[in-house]
Amino acid sequence: SEELLRRSEKLSVVGELAAAIAHEIRNPLTSIKGFVQMMENGLDEKALYYNIVLSELDRIEQIISELLVLAKPQSVSFQRKEIGSMIRHVLKLLEGQANLHNIQFVEEIENEHEQIDCEENQLKQVFINLIKNAIEVMPDGGTIKLSCKKDGDHLLIQITDQGPGIPEDRLSRLGEPFYTTKEKGTGLGLMVSFKIIKDHQGSIHFSSEVNKGTTVDILFPLSIQ
Ligand code: ADP
Ligand code: MG
Repeated sequence: SEELLRRSEKLSVVGELAAAIAHEIRNPLTSIKGFVQMMENGLDEKALYYNIVLSELDRIEQIISELLVLAKPQSVSFQRKEIGSMIRHVLKLLEGQANLHNIQFVEEIENEHEQIDCEENQLKQVFINLIKNAIEVMPDGGTIKLSCKKDGDHLLIQITDQGPGIPEDRLSRLGEPFYTTKEKGTGLGLMVSFKIIKDHQGSIHFSSEVNKGTTVDILFPLSIQ
């Protein structure tokens, strides 16, 4: 039946994911093991090894915490929430990080009190992931524009950065597990975000111009049937 097919498709995705995770976790773990073995010999470069161990542990922690968002029980409760104020809240959270990089947020929230059916923590996670990506591609500062407006029976949220952009042949790789171009990236933020947006019957679209910047469009229905 259709339900069975859907379930087995889901299972194979989960299996693939588990294999990919195991593979990704093995690399930092092998590194930790090697360095801990060297520490056993009481070398004087101990401090350096400790730092490497700690940063590898941090990395595992980050990968696991991003995956936990996916592993959460599916019976999340959807409630009507104002997206405008949710975005404002997320901007407050990321203000410090933005200031550090000379980045200004420009808010254009037109329909502040417009509500949609959503799971607040999950949507916040999406906005955090996307705005963080924008911050991370602008190390020398600039402006990140956030807009939120009603578009028929949908709400359109746009995030525009002045980063290096994404070459067209790489657009299709966005959301692929562990796809990252960053030295310390996990390549999981977009995959998690795409999943959450899909669970909200929404859609996401990237448009980008190399050396100019990227705009992310997210569209949510005002109410979910
Ligand atoms: P991570 O941030 O850990 O690399 P993500 O899933 O959040 O993982 O993003 C995957 C990749 O998509 C990034 O490494 C980057 O190459 C690309 N990307 C995402 N957002 C942007 C953006 N705003 N501008 C340029 N590239 C981006
Ligand atoms: Mg990211």
